[in-house]
Amino acid sequence: MNFKFKIGTKVLFGRECVKENKGIFKDFGKRALFVTGKNSAKASGALKDVIFVLEEYGIDYEIYDRVLNNPTLENVKEGAEAARKFNADFIIGIGGGSPLDASKAVAVLAKNDIEPVDLYKNVFGNKPLPIIAIPTTAGTGSEITPYSILTRDDMKTKKSFGNEDTFPVVAFIDARYTESMSYETTVDTALDAFTHALEGYLGRRSTPVSDILAVEAIRIFGECLQNLVENKFDYDVREKLLYMSMLGGMVISHTGTTIIHGMGYSLTYFKDIPHGRANGMLVKEYLKYNYEAAKEKIDNVLSLLGVASIEALGEIIDRLIPTKPLLTKEEIELYAGLAMKQNSTLSNARTVVKEDMEEIFKNTFKDG
Ligand code: NAP
Ligand code: FE
Repeated sequence: MNFKFKIGTKVLFGRECVKENKGIFKDFGKRALFVTGKNSAKASGALKDVIFVLEEYGIDYEIYDRVLNNPTLENVKEGAEAARKFNADFIIGIGGGSPLDASKAVAVLAKNDIEPVDLYKNVFGNKPLPIIAIPTTAGTGSEITPYSILTRDDMKTKKSFGNEDTFPVVAFIDARYTESMSYETTVDTALDAFTHALEGYLGRRSTPVSDILAVEAIRIFGECLQNLVENKFDYDVREKLLYMSMLGGMVISHTGTTIIHGMGYSLTYFKDIPHGRANGMLVKEYLKYNYEAAKEKIDNVLSLLGVASIEALGEIIDRLIPTKPLLTKEEIELYAGLAMKQNSTLSNARTVVKEDMEEIFKNTFKDG
Protein backbone atom coordinates (compact mmCIF):
# COMPACT_ATOMS: atom_id res chain seq x y z
CA MET A 1 0.00 0.00 0.00
CA ASN A 2 1.15 3.48 -0.81
CA PHE A 3 -1.05 6.50 -0.19
CA LYS A 4 -1.38 9.96 1.33
CA PHE A 5 -4.39 11.12 3.26
CA LYS A 6 -5.22 14.55 4.57
CA ILE A 7 -8.32 16.70 4.82
CA GLY A 8 -7.34 20.29 5.41
CA THR A 9 -10.74 21.28 6.77
CA LYS A 10 -12.20 20.99 10.24
CA VAL A 11 -15.69 19.54 9.86
CA LEU A 12 -18.49 20.55 12.20
CA PHE A 13 -21.47 18.48 11.16
CA GLY A 14 -24.97 18.48 12.56
CA ARG A 15 -28.16 20.33 13.30
CA GLU A 16 -27.49 23.85 14.61
CA CYS A 17 -23.73 23.40 14.26
CA VAL A 18 -23.20 27.14 13.72
CA LYS A 19 -24.85 28.01 17.01
CA GLU A 20 -23.28 25.08 18.84
CA ASN A 21 -19.76 26.08 17.80
CA LYS A 22 -20.16 29.83 17.53
CA GLY A 23 -16.98 30.62 19.47
CA ILE A 24 -14.91 29.60 16.45
CA PHE A 25 -15.90 32.73 14.54
CA LYS A 26 -13.96 34.88 17.04
CA ASP A 27 -10.70 33.20 16.03
CA PHE A 28 -10.96 34.45 12.46
CA GLY A 29 -10.77 38.20 13.00
CA LYS A 30 -12.90 41.30 13.14
CA ARG A 31 -14.06 41.71 9.55
CA ALA A 32 -15.86 39.06 7.52
CA LEU A 33 -16.88 39.11 3.88
CA PHE A 34 -19.76 36.82 2.98
CA VAL A 35 -19.42 35.36 -0.50
CA THR A 36 -22.69 34.00 -1.79
CA GLY A 37 -25.25 33.92 -4.59
CA LYS A 38 -28.52 35.74 -5.03
CA ASN A 39 -30.78 33.54 -2.91
CA SER A 40 -29.18 30.56 -1.27
CA ALA A 41 -27.71 32.26 1.81
CA LYS A 42 -31.02 33.88 2.69
CA ALA A 43 -33.35 31.08 1.57
CA SER A 44 -31.41 28.46 3.51
CA GLY A 45 -31.43 30.42 6.76
CA ALA A 46 -27.64 30.14 7.03
CA LEU A 47 -26.99 33.87 6.59
CA LYS A 48 -29.33 34.75 9.43
CA ASP A 49 -27.73 32.21 11.78
CA VAL A 50 -24.22 33.45 11.07
CA ILE A 51 -25.08 37.15 11.27
CA PHE A 52 -26.60 36.49 14.70
CA VAL A 53 -23.25 35.09 15.87
CA LEU A 54 -21.15 37.83 14.23
CA GLU A 55 -23.25 40.53 15.88
CA GLU A 56 -22.90 38.84 19.24
CA TYR A 57 -19.10 39.00 18.91
CA GLY A 58 -18.96 42.45 17.33
CA ILE A 59 -17.52 41.15 14.08
CA ASP A 60 -18.15 43.55 11.16
CA TYR A 61 -19.36 42.08 7.93
CA GLU A 62 -20.25 42.85 4.36
CA ILE A 63 -22.11 40.70 1.89
CA TYR A 64 -20.92 40.04 -1.65
CA ASP A 65 -23.95 38.25 -3.13
CA ARG A 66 -23.20 38.41 -6.83
CA VAL A 67 -21.71 34.95 -7.36
CA LEU A 68 -23.16 33.42 -10.54
CA ASN A 69 -23.91 29.77 -11.08
CA ASN A 70 -20.69 28.33 -12.54
CA PRO A 71 -18.69 31.46 -11.61
CA THR A 72 -16.36 33.08 -14.12
CA LEU A 73 -12.91 34.66 -13.70
CA GLU A 74 -14.46 38.16 -13.91
CA ASN A 75 -16.95 37.22 -11.23
CA VAL A 76 -14.30 36.17 -8.69
CA LYS A 77 -12.21 39.23 -9.54
CA GLU A 78 -15.13 41.42 -8.55
CA GLY A 79 -15.54 39.44 -5.31
CA ALA A 80 -11.86 39.89 -4.50
CA GLU A 81 -12.15 43.64 -5.04
CA ALA A 82 -14.98 43.66 -2.51
CA ALA A 83 -12.78 41.76 -0.03
CA ARG A 84 -9.90 44.21 -0.45
CA LYS A 85 -12.08 47.26 -0.25
CA PHE A 86 -13.64 46.00 2.96
CA ASN A 87 -10.25 44.89 4.26
CA ALA A 88 -11.70 41.52 5.19
CA ASP A 89 -9.89 39.28 7.68
CA PHE A 90 -11.77 36.21 6.50
CA ILE A 91 -14.30 34.88 4.03
CA ILE A 92 -17.57 33.14 4.84
CA GLY A 93 -18.77 31.23 1.79
CA ILE A 94 -22.43 30.24 1.88
CA GLY A 95 -24.19 28.36 -0.90
CA GLY A 96 -23.85 25.57 -3.35
CA GLY A 97 -20.63 24.75 -5.10
CA SER A 98 -20.69 27.99 -7.07
CA PRO A 99 -20.36 30.37 -4.09
CA LEU A 100 -18.05 27.98 -2.21
CA ASP A 101 -15.72 27.64 -5.19
CA ALA A 102 -15.84 31.41 -5.72
CA SER A 103 -14.89 31.92 -2.06
CA LYS A 104 -11.62 30.08 -2.62
CA ALA A 105 -10.70 32.23 -5.60
CA VAL A 106 -11.73 35.40 -3.77
CA ALA A 107 -9.64 34.35 -0.76
CA VAL A 108 -6.53 33.91 -2.92
CA LEU A 109 -7.02 37.03 -5.05
CA ALA A 110 -7.69 39.22 -2.02
CA LYS A 111 -4.18 38.51 -0.75
CA ASN A 112 -2.29 38.20 -4.03
CA ASP A 113 -2.04 40.88 -6.66
CA ILE A 114 -2.40 38.53 -9.62
CA GLU A 115 -4.78 38.17 -12.53
CA PRO A 116 -7.51 35.52 -12.05
CA VAL A 117 -6.00 33.43 -14.84
CA ASP A 118 -2.84 33.07 -12.70
CA LEU A 119 -4.86 31.17 -10.13
CA TYR A 120 -4.13 28.17 -12.32
CA LYS A 121 -0.42 28.38 -11.51
CA ASN A 122 -1.47 27.06 -8.11
CA VAL A 123 1.44 28.76 -6.37
CA PHE A 124 0.66 31.95 -4.48
CA GLY A 125 3.09 34.31 -2.76
CA ASN A 126 0.72 34.98 0.12
CA LYS A 127 -1.59 32.59 1.89
CA PRO A 128 -5.26 33.08 1.01
CA LEU A 129 -7.64 34.63 3.50
CA PRO A 130 -9.05 31.89 5.75
CA ILE A 131 -12.40 30.53 4.61
CA ILE A 132 -15.40 29.29 6.54
CA ALA A 133 -17.63 27.25 4.23
CA ILE A 134 -21.32 26.52 4.72
CA PRO A 135 -22.96 24.35 2.06
CA THR A 136 -26.60 24.82 1.12
CA THR A 137 -26.67 22.07 -1.51
CA ALA A 138 -25.76 18.41 -0.99
CA GLY A 139 -23.56 17.74 -3.94
CA THR A 140 -20.21 19.28 -4.60
CA GLY A 141 -18.50 18.67 -1.26
CA SER A 142 -16.70 21.94 -2.00
CA GLU A 143 -16.83 22.76 1.72
CA ILE A 144 -14.10 20.18 2.31
CA THR A 145 -12.21 20.14 -1.01
CA PRO A 146 -9.39 22.44 -2.07
CA TYR A 147 -10.88 22.79 -5.56
CA SER A 148 -12.34 25.86 -7.14
CA ILE A 149 -13.90 25.24 -10.51
CA LEU A 150 -14.28 28.34 -12.61
CA THR A 151 -15.69 28.95 -16.06
CA ARG A 152 -12.97 29.76 -18.58
CA ASP A 153 -14.60 31.61 -21.45
CA ASP A 154 -11.18 31.83 -23.12
CA MET A 155 -11.05 28.01 -23.25
CA LYS A 156 -14.79 27.39 -23.60
CA THR A 157 -14.83 25.09 -20.60
CA LYS A 158 -14.49 24.90 -16.83
CA LYS A 159 -11.19 24.37 -15.09
CA SER A 160 -10.22 23.63 -11.56
CA PHE A 161 -7.44 25.08 -9.40
CA GLY A 162 -6.59 24.56 -5.76
CA ASN A 163 -3.78 23.59 -3.42
CA GLU A 164 -3.28 22.73 0.25
CA ASP A 165 -4.03 26.32 1.22
CA THR A 166 -7.41 26.53 -0.50
CA PHE A 167 -9.17 24.03 1.73
CA PRO A 168 -11.74 25.92 3.81
CA VAL A 169 -10.43 26.09 7.37
CA VAL A 170 -13.80 25.18 8.86
CA ALA A 171 -16.96 23.71 7.32
CA PHE A 172 -20.29 24.04 9.10
CA ILE A 173 -22.46 21.31 7.62
CA ASP A 174 -26.10 21.48 8.69
CA ALA A 175 -28.80 19.72 6.66
CA ARG A 176 -31.38 22.36 7.64
CA TYR A 177 -29.69 24.64 5.13
CA THR A 178 -30.46 22.25 2.29
CA GLU A 179 -34.20 22.00 2.98
CA SER A 180 -35.02 25.01 0.81
CA MET A 181 -33.46 23.49 -2.33
CA SER A 182 -35.84 22.82 -5.20
CA TYR A 183 -36.51 19.21 -6.20
CA GLU A 184 -34.41 19.65 -9.36
CA THR A 185 -31.41 21.05 -7.49
CA THR A 186 -31.74 18.27 -4.89
CA VAL A 187 -31.62 15.62 -7.62
CA ASP A 188 -28.87 17.32 -9.63
CA THR A 189 -26.60 17.82 -6.65
CA ALA A 190 -27.17 14.29 -5.32
CA LEU A 191 -26.06 12.96 -8.71
CA ASP A 192 -22.95 15.14 -8.50
CA ALA A 193 -22.06 13.70 -5.11
CA PHE A 194 -22.68 10.17 -6.40
CA THR A 195 -20.38 10.72 -9.38
CA HIS A 196 -17.63 12.04 -7.10
CA ALA A 197 -17.72 8.80 -5.14
CA LEU A 198 -18.10 6.71 -8.28
CA GLU A 199 -15.32 8.31 -10.33
CA GLY A 200 -13.01 8.42 -7.33
CA TYR A 201 -13.67 4.75 -6.59
CA LEU A 202 -13.14 3.52 -10.14
CA GLY A 203 -10.37 5.93 -11.10
CA ARG A 204 -6.65 5.25 -11.12
CA ARG A 205 -5.90 7.55 -8.20
CA SER A 206 -8.15 5.68 -5.77
CA THR A 207 -6.54 4.67 -2.47
CA PRO A 208 -7.55 2.16 0.23
CA VAL A 209 -8.85 5.00 2.39
CA SER A 210 -10.63 6.89 -0.39
CA ASP A 211 -12.31 3.59 -1.31
CA ILE A 212 -13.78 3.24 2.16
CA LEU A 213 -15.25 6.73 1.89
CA ALA A 214 -16.48 6.13 -1.66
CA VAL A 215 -18.15 2.82 -0.84
CA GLU A 216 -19.98 4.41 2.08
CA ALA A 217 -21.10 7.35 -0.05
CA ILE A 218 -22.37 5.02 -2.77
CA ARG A 219 -24.20 2.87 -0.23
CA ILE A 220 -25.93 5.93 1.21
CA PHE A 221 -26.84 7.16 -2.28
CA GLY A 222 -28.49 3.74 -2.78
CA GLU A 223 -30.48 4.23 0.42
CA CYS A 224 -31.75 7.56 -0.84
CA LEU A 225 -32.52 6.56 -4.45
CA GLN A 226 -36.20 5.87 -3.83
CA ASN A 227 -36.60 9.20 -2.01
CA LEU A 228 -35.01 10.96 -4.95
CA VAL A 229 -37.30 9.26 -7.44
CA GLU A 230 -40.43 9.90 -5.35
CA ASN A 231 -39.53 13.43 -4.26
CA LYS A 232 -39.87 12.48 -0.60
CA PHE A 233 -37.43 14.21 1.69
CA ASP A 234 -37.51 14.56 5.43
CA TYR A 235 -34.70 15.88 7.60
CA ASP A 236 -33.06 12.47 7.91
CA VAL A 237 -32.88 11.98 4.15
CA ARG A 238 -31.53 15.51 3.69
CA GLU A 239 -28.90 14.76 6.29
CA LYS A 240 -27.91 11.51 4.60
CA LEU A 241 -27.56 13.28 1.26
CA LEU A 242 -25.41 15.97 2.82
CA TYR A 243 -23.24 13.40 4.57
CA MET A 244 -22.84 11.50 1.31
CA SER A 245 -21.85 14.71 -0.41
CA MET A 246 -19.22 15.42 2.25
CA LEU A 247 -17.81 11.91 1.85
CA GLY A 248 -17.73 12.38 -1.92
CA GLY A 249 -15.77 15.59 -1.42
CA MET A 250 -13.28 13.76 0.77
CA VAL A 251 -12.90 11.15 -1.94
CA ILE A 252 -12.15 13.60 -4.75
CA SER A 253 -9.84 15.65 -2.54
CA HIS A 254 -7.59 12.60 -2.86
CA THR A 255 -8.50 11.06 -6.19
CA GLY A 256 -9.80 13.88 -8.36
CA THR A 257 -12.61 13.13 -10.79
CA THR A 258 -12.35 11.47 -14.21
CA ILE A 259 -14.19 11.55 -17.53
CA ILE A 260 -17.77 12.07 -16.34
CA HIS A 261 -16.78 15.46 -14.99
CA GLY A 262 -14.52 16.30 -17.91
CA MET A 263 -17.28 15.50 -20.39
CA GLY A 264 -20.02 17.09 -18.32
CA TYR A 265 -18.31 20.50 -18.37
CA SER A 266 -19.19 20.97 -22.04
CA LEU A 267 -22.84 20.16 -21.36
CA THR A 268 -22.83 22.90 -18.74
CA TYR A 269 -20.80 25.38 -20.79
CA PHE A 270 -22.61 25.02 -24.10
CA LYS A 271 -26.05 23.72 -23.10
CA ASP A 272 -26.49 25.34 -19.70
CA ILE A 273 -27.20 22.00 -18.03
CA PRO A 274 -26.58 22.10 -14.26
CA HIS A 275 -23.33 20.41 -13.25
CA GLY A 276 -24.71 17.40 -11.39
CA ARG A 277 -27.42 16.76 -13.97
CA ALA A 278 -24.80 16.76 -16.74
CA ASN A 279 -22.80 14.20 -14.80
CA GLY A 280 -25.84 12.05 -14.11
CA MET A 281 -26.66 11.82 -17.81
CA LEU A 282 -23.28 10.25 -18.51
CA VAL A 283 -23.26 7.60 -15.76
CA LYS A 284 -24.74 4.68 -17.66
CA GLU A 285 -22.45 4.86 -20.68
CA TYR A 286 -19.46 5.61 -18.43
CA LEU A 287 -20.07 2.39 -16.50
CA LYS A 288 -20.54 0.36 -19.65
CA TYR A 289 -17.37 1.82 -21.14
CA ASN A 290 -15.30 1.06 -18.03
CA TYR A 291 -16.83 -2.31 -17.20
CA GLU A 292 -14.01 -4.53 -18.38
CA ALA A 293 -11.36 -2.30 -16.79
CA ALA A 294 -13.07 -2.14 -13.38
CA LYS A 295 -15.41 -5.12 -13.35
CA GLU A 296 -15.15 -6.05 -9.68
CA LYS A 297 -15.63 -2.52 -8.43
CA ILE A 298 -18.53 -1.82 -10.80
CA ASP A 299 -20.27 -5.02 -9.67
CA ASN A 300 -19.78 -3.83 -6.11
CA VAL A 301 -21.31 -0.43 -6.97
CA LEU A 302 -24.39 -2.12 -8.43
CA SER A 303 -24.75 -4.31 -5.37
CA LEU A 304 -24.29 -1.35 -2.99
CA LEU A 305 -27.03 0.47 -4.87
CA GLY A 306 -29.26 -2.60 -4.86
CA VAL A 307 -29.73 -2.60 -8.64
CA ALA A 308 -29.43 -5.63 -10.87
CA SER A 309 -27.48 -4.14 -13.77
CA ILE A 310 -26.01 -1.04 -15.33
CA GLU A 311 -29.15 -0.83 -17.48
CA ALA A 312 -31.36 -0.90 -14.38
CA LEU A 313 -29.37 1.94 -12.83
CA GLY A 314 -29.66 3.82 -16.12
CA GLU A 315 -33.46 3.47 -15.98
CA ILE A 316 -33.58 4.95 -12.49
CA ILE A 317 -31.38 7.86 -13.53
CA ASP A 318 -33.61 8.42 -16.57
CA ARG A 319 -36.53 8.84 -14.20
CA LEU A 320 -34.53 11.45 -12.28
CA ILE A 321 -33.49 13.20 -15.49
CA PRO A 322 -36.32 12.74 -17.97
CA THR A 323 -34.95 14.92 -20.79
CA LYS A 324 -31.59 15.09 -22.51
CA PRO A 325 -30.43 17.36 -25.31
CA LEU A 326 -29.76 16.19 -28.85
CA LEU A 327 -26.15 16.67 -29.89
CA THR A 328 -24.91 17.09 -33.44
CA LYS A 329 -21.85 15.26 -34.74
CA GLU A 330 -19.89 18.54 -34.67
CA GLU A 331 -20.88 19.21 -31.07
CA ILE A 332 -19.83 15.72 -30.04
CA GLU A 333 -16.45 16.14 -31.71
CA LEU A 334 -15.90 19.49 -30.05
CA TYR A 335 -16.93 18.28 -26.59
CA ALA A 336 -14.80 15.14 -26.81
CA GLY A 337 -11.79 17.22 -27.87
CA LEU A 338 -12.26 19.57 -24.91
CA ALA A 339 -12.70 16.71 -22.45
CA MET A 340 -9.51 15.06 -23.71
CA LYS A 341 -7.63 18.18 -22.58
CA GLN A 342 -8.76 17.86 -18.95
CA ASN A 343 -5.97 16.37 -16.80
CA SER A 344 -8.54 14.24 -15.00
CA THR A 345 -9.05 12.17 -18.15
CA LEU A 346 -5.70 10.51 -17.45
CA SER A 347 -7.05 9.08 -14.18
CA ASN A 348 -9.90 7.17 -15.78
CA ALA A 349 -9.89 3.41 -15.15
CA ARG A 350 -9.70 2.63 -18.86
CA THR A 351 -7.22 4.51 -21.03
CA VAL A 352 -9.29 6.97 -23.03
CA VAL A 353 -8.91 8.14 -26.62
CA LYS A 354 -11.02 10.86 -28.20
CA GLU A 355 -13.10 8.40 -30.22
CA ASP A 356 -14.14 6.66 -26.99
CA MET A 357 -15.57 9.89 -25.67
CA GLU A 358 -17.36 10.53 -28.93
CA GLU A 359 -18.91 7.09 -28.60
CA ILE A 360 -20.05 7.75 -25.01
CA PHE A 361 -21.59 11.07 -26.08
CA LYS A 362 -23.25 9.43 -29.10
CA ASN A 363 -24.70 6.57 -27.07
CA THR A 364 -25.94 8.93 -24.37
CA PHE A 365 -27.52 11.59 -26.54
CA LYS A 366 -28.63 9.63 -29.60
CA ASP A 367 -32.34 9.67 -28.71
CA GLY A 368 -32.52 13.23 -27.52
P1 NAP B 1 -24.91 26.02 -7.46
O1 NAP B 1 -24.54 26.51 -8.83
O2 NAP B 1 -24.08 26.49 -6.35
O3 NAP B 1 -26.43 26.41 -7.14
C1 NAP B 1 -27.47 26.06 -8.04
C2 NAP B 1 -28.73 26.87 -7.72
O4 NAP B 1 -29.31 26.42 -6.51
C3 NAP B 1 -28.47 28.35 -7.54
O5 NAP B 1 -29.47 29.08 -8.21
C4 NAP B 1 -28.54 28.55 -6.05
O6 NAP B 1 -28.94 29.84 -5.66
C5 NAP B 1 -29.57 27.54 -5.67
N1 NAP B 1 -29.47 27.11 -4.27
C6 NAP B 1 -28.39 26.59 -3.64
N2 NAP B 1 -28.70 26.22 -2.39
C7 NAP B 1 -30.00 26.54 -2.20
C8 NAP B 1 -30.88 26.41 -1.11
N3 NAP B 1 -30.54 25.82 0.04
N4 NAP B 1 -32.15 26.89 -1.26
C9 NAP B 1 -32.55 27.43 -2.42
N5 NAP B 1 -31.74 27.58 -3.50
C10 NAP B 1 -30.49 27.12 -3.39
O7 NAP B 1 -25.03 24.43 -7.52
P2 NAP B 1 -24.05 23.26 -7.05
O8 NAP B 1 -24.42 22.09 -7.86
O9 NAP B 1 -24.02 23.14 -5.60
O10 NAP B 1 -22.60 23.75 -7.50
C11 NAP B 1 -22.17 23.63 -8.83
C12 NAP B 1 -20.80 24.25 -8.98
O11 NAP B 1 -19.87 23.56 -8.13
C13 NAP B 1 -20.27 24.10 -10.40
O12 NAP B 1 -19.59 25.27 -10.76
C14 NAP B 1 -19.34 22.91 -10.29
O13 NAP B 1 -18.35 22.90 -11.29
C15 NAP B 1 -18.76 23.11 -8.91
N6 NAP B 1 -18.20 21.89 -8.29
C16 NAP B 1 -17.18 22.04 -7.40
C17 NAP B 1 -16.59 20.95 -6.80
C18 NAP B 1 -15.45 21.12 -5.85
O14 NAP B 1 -14.83 20.16 -5.43
N7 NAP B 1 -15.14 22.32 -5.46
C19 NAP B 1 -17.07 19.66 -7.07
C20 NAP B 1 -18.13 19.53 -7.97
C21 NAP B 1 -18.69 20.65 -8.55
P3 NAP B 1 -27.94 31.12 -5.65
O15 NAP B 1 -28.13 31.77 -6.97
O16 NAP B 1 -28.38 31.94 -4.52
O17 NAP B 1 -26.52 30.63 -5.47
FE1 FE C 1 -18.81 17.66 -9.34
